[in-house]
Amino acid sequence: MYTNFKEFLTGELSAIKEAGLFKGERIIVSPQGAEITLNTGQTVLNFCANNYLGLSANKKLVEAAKNALDTHGYGMSSVRFICGTGDLHKELERKLADFFGTEDTILYAACFDANGGVFEPLLSEQDAIISDSLNHASIIDGVRLCKAQRYRYANADMNDLEEKLKEAQAQRFRLIVTDGVFSMDGNVAPLGKIYELAGKYNAMVMVDESHSAGVVGDTGRGVTELYNLKGKIEIITGTLGKAFGGAIGGFTTGKKEIIEMLRQRSRPYLFSNSIPPLVAAAGIRMVEMMTETNELQDKLHFNTKYFMEKMMKAGFDIKPTQSAICAVMLYDAKLSQEMAAKLLNEGIYVTGFYYPVVPKDQARIRVQLSAAHETEHLDKAIAAFTKVGKELGVLK
Ligand SMILES: *Cc1c(COP(=O)(O)O)cnc(C)c1O
Repeated sequence: MYTNFKEFLTGELSAIKEAGLFKGERIIVSPQGAEITLNTGQTVLNFCANNYLGLSANKKLVEAAKNALDTHGYGMSSVRFICGTGDLHKELERKLADFFGTEDTILYAACFDANGGVFEPLLSEQDAIISDSLNHASIIDGVRLCKAQRYRYANADMNDLEEKLKEAQAQRFRLIVTDGVFSMDGNVAPLGKIYELAGKYNAMVMVDESHSAGVVGDTGRGVTELYNLKGKIEIITGTLGKAFGGAIGGFTTGKKEIIEMLRQRSRPYLFSNSIPPLVAAAGIRMVEMMTETNELQDKLHFNTKYFMEKMMKAGFDIKPTQSAICAVMLYDAKLSQEMAAKLLNEGIYVTGFYYPVVPKDQARIRVQLSAAHETEHLDKAIAAFTKVGKELGVLK
């Protein structure tokens, strides 16, 4: 039975390889951090993790997780509504709501699930979802599962959003949905203007803060903090898998009736296991740390500014950003791969992106800054970029 299908898959896989689009994986044998060791024995500086606050191997989080293993065991063996709700889950939900200034929170196994399960229970054929064209794959999939009318506006294009809002007046309820930070350019959604248009055209707003929570805003409360909109946005989704410790887990936080309805009807919540207590415990510790001190947020902001300024001074073409994502523009796919490979030889781990991940002729290297980086790490990366940039003719 498998013979024909095997042949088909082998052909497809070779086509992916021939197109140069095959995704290989490097194997890390150390904890995630500023410095990581690969299974080749090479130790490199890591500039491509979502470890924005450097919490992936944070001692306090590891300790909180270890303690929870002793007090609460390993797994819940249940979905939330049968017998998978622990005191730690409830406490983390409360703490996340306090952190974002929202009314209530619902946890998921991942933000992919939070986005996959947010639209279908809330909206129907009579309603409209108006979505940014560069929104994350999980939002796109979530919208597909919902019967609401779909509108798509060009990335962060407020004239286009306004046009779509006018068209969507035919529907009963309208929900505008946007990523907080778009991960390829590092640009922040113009939430102030989005909120204003939502008011003008009677729409609700949903922001996915996955790349912005812990990163954007003076205290890391995300894009809603940057635009002074804390508590005003109906729905926020986010992940525990990036700045917030980097393990696993996602959440939706916002208006309490919305969260209550999701607990009743959201399929990834109803039909998928609850996160392990140790992840909830570390999450609680994480929110506490971010509330007690602004040290990590401040360090990340310092590092980002430092790196961006020095890279521009060195002559690189850098996309403006308000996040911790720094896109070093190269415009040539092959060059982006060559440069990333040469940088790895210099001990700098970064990723080159090109079409179809980014638009044609917009190839780049994406650098992600972290509070785990020390100034000497940044200096080393800038020096390596400059050396390799000169070798490849990117810098004169
Ligand atoms: C990473 C990411 C997700 C997925 O988060 P997981 O918790 O890893 O599933 C969802 N939305 C956005 C915008 C992301 O960047």
